[in-house]
Order: sequence, then C-alpha cells, then structure tokens
Amino acid sequence: MKMLPTVLANLFSKPATRDYPSYVREPFPHARGELVNDIDRCIFCGTCSRKCPSQCITVSRDSSTGTWNLEAYACIGCGICVMSCPVSCLSQKNTHRPVGTTKTMITLTAKLPEKPSKKTEKRTEPAQ
Ligand code: SF4
Ligand code: SF4
Repeated sequence: MKMLPTVLANLFSKPATRDYPSYVREPFPHARGELVNDIDRCIFCGTCSRKCPSQCITVSRDSSTGTWNLEAYACIGCGICVMSCPVSCLSQKNTHRPVGTTKTMITLTAKLPEKPSKKTEKRTEPAQ
C-alpha cells in the first residue's frame, strides 16, 4: 500500500526517457561530438594518430600527398587529438554522428605543405 502513490504517479506521468532517435535533445554547447579535420590546414605530422587512445586515426604520406583516416565509430570523443594538434586543424562538433551499423572509414587527402626554403638571410649593417 505504501508504494501506491509512486505507482500511480509513474502510471500517469511522462516517461523519464526520450524516444531516441525520433526525438533528439538539444546538444550542450561544449559537448564533445563528431571529430572534424580542416584537411587543408593539416600538416600530416601524425601527432593525433600517436596520441589517440582508441587508435582510430592513421596518417600516411608520400612525396607530395598526405592521407588522414578516421575510423569514425571507434572514436570515443575524448578530444585528446584536438588538444595535441600543433596547427589546430582538428575540432569537435557538439553533435554526434547519426547511428550506423557498419564500420565507417573517413579518408581525407591533401597536398603536403611546402617546406620552407633553406636560403640564408643576408644581413646588412645600417649605414652610419
Ligand atoms: S595532429 Fe593535426 S596536423 Fe598533425 S596529422 Fe593530426 S590533424 Fe594533421
Ligand atoms: S577524439 Fe579521442 S578517440 Fe576520437 S580520434 Fe581524437 S583522440 Fe581518438
């Protein structure tokens, strides 16, 4: 008998859970969601790949082109790669990828940035 008020309250109130994916709540502004790489700024240094705890990033390069791969559903959204990228080309949206049932590999390629030339600077003394 003691539980009757609780049972009745639960019976006639809305469920505490949401009907996902029909209903998706508003994301929190600083939530760590989908990982994005602005590939034109990437220098293919491989730091993100070495730091990633779930080993879902691979980076490769040949003489002129770099390739950045992300196994999208293996990413746990920790943000370590974003924090360690030296050129800040990685970022995270505050929303998550739509649910999927197969492995998804995201492959981005771009030209490697040009190396700075090794020309030595000539110094000229100011005229006195
Ligand atoms: S750490 Fe940044 S610059 Fe380096 S490979 Fe990863 S995304 Fe590219
Ligand atoms: S957010 Fe974390 S798990 Fe995802 S790719 Fe970056 S380091 Fe790896």
